[in-house]
Amino acid sequence: MAATPPSGPRRPPPGPPPGPPPGPPPKLLARTVPASGQDTTASPQTPPARRSPPPFAEHDEAYEIVSQVGEGTYGQVYKASAERTGSLVALKKIRMEAVKEGFPVTSMREIKLLQSLRHENVIRLQEIMTSRAGSVYMVFEYMEHDLNGVLVHPEVTFTDAHRKSLASQLLQGLAYLHRRAVLHRDLKGSNLLLNNAGTLKIADFGLARTYYKRHRGDYTNRVVTLWYRPPELLLGATQYGPEVDTWGAGCLFLELFTRQPLFQGHDEIHQLHVITQLLGPLTTNAWPSVETLPWFELMRMQDERNTSDSDTPDAWAAIEAHLSPAAVALARGLLTYDPAQRWTAAQALESPYFTTEEPRAEPPAAVLAALRGEWHEMQSKRARKKARHNAT
Ligand code: ADP
Ligand code: MG
Repeated sequence: MAATPPSGPRRPPPGPPPGPPPGPPPKLLARTVPASGQDTTASPQTPPARRSPPPFAEHDEAYEIVSQVGEGTYGQVYKASAERTGSLVALKKIRMEAVKEGFPVTSMREIKLLQSLRHENVIRLQEIMTSRAGSVYMVFEYMEHDLNGVLVHPEVTFTDAHRKSLASQLLQGLAYLHRRAVLHRDLKGSNLLLNNAGTLKIADFGLARTYYKRHRGDYTNRVVTLWYRPPELLLGATQYGPEVDTWGAGCLFLELFTRQPLFQGHDEIHQLHVITQLLGPLTTNAWPSVETLPWFELMRMQDERNTSDSDTPDAWAAIEAHLSPAAVALARGLLTYDPAQRWTAAQALESPYFTTEEPRAEPPAAVLAALRGEWHEMQSKRARKKARHNAT
């Protein structure tokens, strides 16, 4: 089954697709540069960088790229080692093609947000640096896996205690972000990083923004990858809050059990359709203000035409069969249609699933450390491609 949603959220217009580099991984040596923009390490044949680097702290650390760990429409991510300390980092290249001059404002927003965050379950930005060729990279602590990579890995078997730990870490990171008035707006498996100690960290703040806690702001609804997008965004809401993230957390919580994305729609209307197939119709009883949302009528008319395909009334019962009563309550709480009634991350953490029900949470350190290799979405995509190729 495909595991890549067909329509991702809107990001700043990407330049030409990066494409994997031919041959062995590039051996680049990059070095942070003085805030003045004078790269003292640049070799004579390197043309001077056209853009001056952003004003970040000066360090004299050099990194050697080990391999590529992430690729996609929006940029490449490399595993690298610090020359002096030998410690591993991830270098996320900032795309400069999309802007003609200066430093991309969206990357600046991502960096400023990341710099203000410090939590065990949120990825830590260590510094910003430029390479000799003038590329700018964000330097992160290195994480061996992401949730997407490990969930599709046949050798990974999580116990209920592991699942509880992962769900708890995700919700703790999320509760922290929401306390700090940050909306992530792109929760999904490939943005949840895992290390071999079994620690989960929320990453990829490319769509994140701060929000007003006291009143509803007016934001774009073209956010969140389709499969994790909550019903209010699918119905065109532009005034929303942290509930958009907790819906995604609900999808991911169940994905820990099902090992594949819960709602795999192929467009917005179909996405709402598969959601209602599992959770029941959208009614004013359950969600009093649903009729006021911009696309409600349109969606209802379209959906009536669609309803003939594969009705699966027992789908929820099949999922519930794998869950304890407290886990069912948590899933239901996070996947509540009405954003006003949907559980918050903090509320979820206080639910019996975490506070009283056995087993106790246990980080999946042993399972992940025993895995041969490192598993990110990129590796699992490549493995699937290879399997398909071998099958034909
Ligand atoms: P994008 O905007 O391209 O989705 P991400 O920040 O999500 O950028 O990074 C893409 C992928 O690179 C992630 O899905 C993950 O597999 C890998 N990656 C990102 N950050 C790290 C990190 N700190 N350590 C290891 N791998 C990472
Ligand atoms: Mg990502």
